[in-house]
Amino acid sequence: MQITITNAEQLKTKPDENQLGFGTIFTDHMFNMDYSVEKGWHNPRIEPYAPLVMDPSTMVLHYGQGVFEGLKAYRNDKGGVQLFRPQENFSRLNQSNRKLCIPEIDEAFALEALKQLLTVEKDWIPSAPGTSLYIRPTIIATDPFLGVRASFTYRFFIILSPVGAYYAEGFNPVKIMVTKEHVRAVRGGVGDTKTLGNYAASLLAGDLAHKAGYTQVLWLDGVEQKYVEEVGAMNIFFVIDDELVTPELSGSILPGITRDSVLALGRSWGMKVSERKISIDEVIDAHASGHLKEIFGSGTAAVISPVGELKYGDTVITVGDGQVGPLAHKFFQAIQDIQYGVIDAPQGWVEAV
Ligand SMILES: *Cc1c(COP(=O)(O)O)cnc(C)c1O
Repeated sequence: MQITITNAEQLKTKPDENQLGFGTIFTDHMFNMDYSVEKGWHNPRIEPYAPLVMDPSTMVLHYGQGVFEGLKAYRNDKGGVQLFRPQENFSRLNQSNRKLCIPEIDEAFALEALKQLLTVEKDWIPSAPGTSLYIRPTIIATDPFLGVRASFTYRFFIILSPVGAYYAEGFNPVKIMVTKEHVRAVRGGVGDTKTLGNYAASLLAGDLAHKAGYTQVLWLDGVEQKYVEEVGAMNIFFVIDDELVTPELSGSILPGITRDSVLALGRSWGMKVSERKISIDEVIDAHASGHLKEIFGSGTAAVISPVGELKYGDTVITVGDGQVGPLAHKFFQAIQDIQYGVIDAPQGWVEAV
């Protein structure tokens, strides 16, 4: 399929690279593609970034049938542009599609479309340390129809946003709070997909945590409220003595690509790495007996987010004296160095644009 390109008539003024936040500035162009039952996925095109005009009855607005991805393009020190494991993002987008009854996309074609879009927008990829171009592929149901069924038509789009260094103010630990009142996902549900409603459903617990002075919510499993699942919209890791532990993928946990990268690197460094159930009681006990060394989150936006304090009911524990642990630091540095092309990547992890 040929991708048509329509250039924007006027280009926006580029932002100051040292003042970039997250998710507020969008580039000049976007990728669009449509689906209908008769034509399948068709009309791939790169065109000026613009509002989507849609009928108020458009299905995604009512029933949330939509999925997305998040990844970044990085400028390496030779001026080249690279992606980190992008095939994994498009493969996960299709896993989400299958769960939401959305027709699958051709993963190789989507990656090719992204590369073409990045080529058109190459001047938007910042080069200041820690900055990148955030990429948001999204698919939404577009039938103008009220009634619960899968849509017959869809839009797939990709938008781009230059983003600043996540740790502009330093690599500082965050405070997290366990919620016993709310759950993020349950077995058999859609917790393992990046679908719209999951994030809407997490807002209230996040709000309550903020009001109590905490940055993120630590989610327990939705059945027994016993086992740790995720932190905010990140996966979570514990260092207990010399064991690196992360909850096993149970069906209600999002299979993070950063999570998988931490596991692979940990194994390649000869560490004892476990994907297993870990209860909140085990975490509290490991802290009480002095075995809990570190806690950190993992995800594309922050890469690694060290945890300095955890609250569970009336119990508040300080992790690693509230300082960034050595492993959080080591994983952060290694993954970031791979993403920016400072060190060689494991086979297949880096894709040049
Ligand atoms: C996207 C996401 C993650 C992290 O996935 P990465 O591929 O590492 O960015 C973890 N949990 C949730 C709920 C997410 O949406």
